[in-house]
Amino acid sequence: MAMKALDIYKHLPKTNCKRCGYPPTCLAFAMKLAIGKADIEACPGPRPPRYEDPPRRG
Ligand code: SF4
Repeated sequence: MAMKALDIYKHLPKTNCKRCGYPPTCLAFAMKLAIGKADIEACPGPRPPRYEDPPRRG
């Protein structure tokens, strides 16, 4: 299921730095991501965990 723009926005840095090329805001970038018109790699900021490394137990 595709994420909604506001769900994506929660994970963006919210600095509005414009480096992604979708000014003026991070929300504009999130909206483009939500409809598949942008690549998350365009934002150099922190990203949600990808769960590549499972938590260690014990
Ligand atoms: S590059 Fe990331 S932090 Fe900067 S405006 Fe775009 S979405 Fe926001």
